Amino acid sequence: MPKLTEAQKQERAQKAQTFDYMSDEAYEEVMSQLDCDCEPYSDVYTLPRWNAQGYMIKKGSKGIKKIVYLKSKEKDAQGNETGRTITRPKATVLFCRCQVKKYQKQ
Ligand SMILES: [Zn+2]
Repeated sequence: MPKLTEAQKQERAQKAQTFDYMSDEAYEEVMSQLDCDCEPYSDVYTLPRWNAQGYMIKKGSKGIKKIVYLKSKEKDAQGNETGRTITRPKATVLFCRCQVKKYQKQ
């Protein structure tokens, strides 16, 4: 993996905390599975998002299973965009702030 500059790391961490799509339903669904004071969307992320923020998952942590809906541009058989947006479900696992720790500095 190429070494990132501090600015690139900052940008990546920032992006990892931004959501294109947020809903009260998703918030409640995640909230109902948390038994700590963590807040969905600000303390609960997927593994790649935690990694981008410089965190790793603590050993033995059990994540919250969640279906997320990914939006993408529909393409026709020739690979040209049709102008429509399609949504497809994807199963992900979420971890809250209690289940992660900062990467050790080398
Ligand atoms: Zn927590």
